[in-house]
Amino acid sequence: MDFIKVKDLEVYANHGLFEEEKKLGQKFLISAEIGLNFRDCAISHDLDKSIDYGKLSHELKEVFTEKTEDLIETLVYKLVKHIFDNYEIAKTVEVEIKKPWAPINLPLDTASVRLFKKKRHFYIGMGTNMGNREEYLEKALEEMEKAGLKILDKSSVIETKAWGVEDQADFLNRVVKVESFEDPIDVLHILQKIEIDLDRVRIKKWGPRTIDLDVLFVDREIIYTDELIVPHPFIEEREFVLESLNELIPTYYHPILNKKISKLYEEVKK
Ligand code: AMP
Repeated sequence: MDFIKVKDLEVYANHGLFEEEKKLGQKFLISAEIGLNFRDCAISHDLDKSIDYGKLSHELKEVFTEKTEDLIETLVYKLVKHIFDNYEIAKTVEVEIKKPWAPINLPLDTASVRLFKKKRHFYIGMGTNMGNREEYLEKALEEMEKAGLKILDKSSVIETKAWGVEDQADFLNRVVKVESFEDPIDVLHILQKIEIDLDRVRIKKWGPRTIDLDVLFVDREIIYTDELIVPHPFIEEREFVLESLNELIPTYYHPILNKKISKLYEEVKK
């Protein structure tokens, strides 16, 4: 990976928890390192194929000073988000904010926060079998976009028989490909909030639901925590998931089973 870095950009601003900090202001130092591929720029001499660090520095200053915040955690997130939202070329972003004058009544070099994020692709399975099902699918997509998950691709909507608990209404299902710099666990939390906001009531496991959102794949990562398992553990057993995945990524290798989606789809249909 190639990197562009701005180090210790000095900005004077009125952020902080204490009234004195808001009134008097203080010096902050901002560093940003962006991972990208600038080979095309290096060869073509075209700066549009990379990131202009001068322009970036001015933007960082502007975003940093547009509104007074209590916490540098808020500011560092804002700066990372700004870079991902405005530079499609960025694959990773690390931002650090240092406070050399942090008012702690002790001598110190700096107090700081640092945030590192990387862009990933997520495949999200969507299902609904209550109320206006088309509308729930649409609303969930809208909410995902609002939460900063960029929808890159969508499979067709298919109607399927309920899986697991069978005496319930038919489902509408689809899979969407989403891009996000949020960590996988944060994407899960974003999806769970959307489920709750769209009136999902969890009455019984695998029972009827207005909207169910599952994280199926995250790039080629394997995640195993109490809250999140990726690849989603039931992919190979669910024909409706594989049908949708097969429409989008038939040649993707399941990172644990090491079989192509097209093969898993063939197998589940037997
Ligand atoms: P569900 O009823 O299918 O929405 O299941 C939700 C539960 O599964 C939650 O407790 C999640 O923490 C957990 N879970 C584990 N892995 C995943 C995943 N890949 N996608 C969605 N939920 C998951």
